[in-house]
Amino acid sequence: MIRINCPFCGFRDHSEFTYGGDASIVFPDLDASSEAWIDAVFHRDNIDGVQRETWHHVHGCRMWVVVTRDTVTHEISAVEPAHQGIKLVLEAMTGLSSSDEDQQP
Ligand SMILES: [Zn+2]
Repeated sequence: MIRINCPFCGFRDHSEFTYGGDASIVFPDLDASSEAWIDAVFHRDNIDGVQRETWHHVHGCRMWVVVTRDTVTHEISAVEPAHQGIKLVLEAMTGLSSSDEDQQP
């Protein structure tokens, strides 16, 4: 069982979330070649280690978060809001960066 520390809801089971995919993908410009779009949409690295992933808290606050997770151990080292504007507001309100609160109780 993976427990994700949602920045808005606290620790929740991963069953409350849906997996969104690799958060490191940079999509090409709209007028980029078909090959560039095919590569961005369909070709994925099968990372054996730490990767950044998007998750949607669909059965909670419905926010998208970026989870830094080891794909081998499932250890989560950081969770932050996917939207940078929301991340900045949350950090200003709490005085903490989102990675400061990722230690499970
Ligand atoms: Zn949440």
